[in-house]
Amino acid sequence: MELTFLGGASEVGASCTLLQVVGRKLLVDGGMRPAAREGQSRLPDLSLLDKQPPEALIITHAHIDHTGALPLIASLLPHIPIYATESTRVLTEVLLRDSVRIMEQEHLRPDGETPLYNAEQVDAFLGRIQVMGFRQPFAPLAGSPDITVQFIPAGHILGAAMLFLETPEGTLFHTGDISLTDQRTIKGLDINALPRADVMITEGTYGNRSHSSRKEEEQKLAATVQAVLARGGRILCPAFAVGRAQEIILILKAYRASGKISPVPIYLDGMVRSVCDVYQQQSHDLQPTLQRHLVNGRRPLFADPQLHVFSVRSFERQGLVLHTKPKMVISSSGMLSGGASPLYALDIAAREQDCLLFTGYQDEESPGYALLNAKQGDRIRIGEQFVTLNCQVTRYNLSGHADSNQIQAVVSKVQPARLILVHGDSEALEALSQRFKHLSVAIPNVGTTLSITPTAKVLVSSATSQRAMHADALLPDVTPLLAEGDPVQDMPSPTLQALWEKAHTHGPFRPWTSVELGQHYYGPDYRPALRSLIEQVLRDATTHFKLGRLGAQTTYQPRASEAIQRLTPLIDLEPGEMVFVQGQNASPQIALVLSAPQDGTLSLVADQWKQAQRPLNVIQLLPGVRRPEWLTLAPGEIKQQLQAWRKQLDNCWIDLFICWERAQGQPFTYVQLCTQVADEDERLAWGLELLAHGRELFNREGESWLPLESEQIEKNPGFSQHLALIRAGVGAAVTVNDQPAILTGKSSWRLFEIQWQAGPTAGQHHKVRSANIRLK
Ligand SMILES: [Zn+2]
Ligand SMILES: [Zn+2]
Repeated sequence: MELTFLGGASEVGASCTLLQVVGRKLLVDGGMRPAAREGQSRLPDLSLLDKQPPEALIITHAHIDHTGALPLIASLLPHIPIYATESTRVLTEVLLRDSVRIMEQEHLRPDGETPLYNAEQVDAFLGRIQVMGFRQPFAPLAGSPDITVQFIPAGHILGAAMLFLETPEGTLFHTGDISLTDQRTIKGLDINALPRADVMITEGTYGNRSHSSRKEEEQKLAATVQAVLARGGRILCPAFAVGRAQEIILILKAYRASGKISPVPIYLDGMVRSVCDVYQQQSHDLQPTLQRHLVNGRRPLFADPQLHVFSVRSFERQGLVLHTKPKMVISSSGMLSGGASPLYALDIAAREQDCLLFTGYQDEESPGYALLNAKQGDRIRIGEQFVTLNCQVTRYNLSGHADSNQIQAVVSKVQPARLILVHGDSEALEALSQRFKHLSVAIPNVGTTLSITPTAKVLVSSATSQRAMHADALLPDVTPLLAEGDPVQDMPSPTLQALWEKAHTHGPFRPWTSVELGQHYYGPDYRPALRSLIEQVLRDATTHFKLGRLGAQTTYQPRASEAIQRLTPLIDLEPGEMVFVQGQNASPQIALVLSAPQDGTLSLVADQWKQAQRPLNVIQLLPGVRRPEWLTLAPGEIKQQLQAWRKQLDNCWIDLFICWERAQGQPFTYVQLCTQVADEDERLAWGLELLAHGRELFNREGESWLPLESEQIEKNPGFSQHLALIRAGVGAAVTVNDQPAILTGKSSWRLFEIQWQAGPTAGQHHKVRSANIRLK
């Protein structure tokens, strides 16, 4: 067996390995170096293929450091078969089309490099990929049925595979890129399902690192995001389009849904958008929980405008960049070296309250690296432009790669006799090799060829296997990511008024979550367990907050002070009381309260509704009238009683213009009006009239009705005519359609009662619209 490393050896980038076995040649991956240094080729060393052209090509996963050179390689080898998993094929299509587009744009610049391949070559390459399922051994080389390959899920990103090769010269296990940690999108690799192999090639990206717990890292990230949003800042997460971006989206959505992050919108931009579509389309390769979410929730996984996760359309981008409202933007590329993320970064970097939040590897040449290593006030180049760094720059590790302990656990399962470390810088691979002193370990460079003679298997020494067991014990814990702990002791419960004051002071025009309210109320003493206490207080929040939904959680938008003044008395309502109800733009009704308010609602029967649970804010006025005796009736019977009563009320002569004139510019409340009216019917009729037409003559502020200025009223010819008739008084002589009549002194909204003075109807009464009456 012979292995030649064309790229991806002692480096991250341009992964490409040639395997020769029993005279047959197989190529694994053909990546590029997306951020190649000056003088460095973006391609693997393809000259090494001249004398030994491969006869088949196998792709581990779609990332550009494994696929970026493939259209070129495939066009140089037009007849060889190409194999990948289905998801890898679809993702590769998105990535390579984007890569062509970028190369063509760069080519237009004066110093731009020549594109490595064109769109036709990409299409031809994609058309040749044969899709293979996971765990289905296939023989990639015609005429060699004894050489088989199997794709095994690698955890890393959608469709990512490890390769297990069985050959007459022994078995080979190639990890590609692996993750053991369960990510939100993809389950970590199943360590128990790993085969033993004679030779193992493993990635070592984080060979000298141990990851902190994923859960802790997510929590720290969420806390930072929340701190930025709370100070009114914006967040840009430059993210690798495939894998990392989807993780961040799901993390932010989850923390926002649980209330730990403010309910501000999330925007997705750059290639991230189309990759999200692929992830959703290939849902069978995702975490089972996400598959269930799609089936049961029937909601999109990523962009979901109803949940305020928006895909930015290119024409909207510029507006969004300049818009300074708190928001979260997730955009590729992850190193700010291209795509849409640099556009956002230029604006965000300059603004103190904003934040650039990195989660992935940064190449030393990239703007992302420069920003992470810069001091406040430094001038940084992003693309063609320079910006002064004023914003917060931070980094969290959401790696999709195994760390050193995890790699060790994998190696101890596979138990190879020969171990080859690739896909990592020399330092990481050197550190990793120290863990395998009892194995024959190689760290090849680009151009290295390793000859591996079939040998008896080297037994793993007892010392190593003990260490291996220890490594097993270090596997990631998969406790629920959002578990909450900490008992609460003797924490005082806030009042609704206190929560409202916090919200009203710090964010009067936006919805708040219960967790945010808790955090503002308790400050640093806030514990997750206090959430239920806060939510208990918020059960009757309708008087102080407008309730909304964001996904599964309730949001609380503080009401204006006058609205609170109006709604607060409603808390004391008792069954048997009469109230007025009026929804938005609906006509007012009289209603009987059946149950005291609870959780911001109460049970009512109204003259036009059946019994229903209604929010407190439909209740408009309290006439102080009670009908407790009706509580024993069936709701249908109550409704009949109310309808009969309503008919009577509608026939009352109530004239709001008289009320307006008497008020003489002074505000009054409905309660004050009621104290001047002894009759219950009349009180109710006044209430109905105020609700039906009051806003045409008064400004309503909470409980107060403030008469509009005379000028404003008199300006309306209909209104001034009505007022003139009132002022003319009882017995005033008028004509209606030229027939003589007198006013009886009864009037209501734009109507007067008249008594005919002549003709066959003389002496009779009639209701006439004020517009049809002329004063003599
Ligand atoms: Zn990868
Ligand atoms: Zn890679």
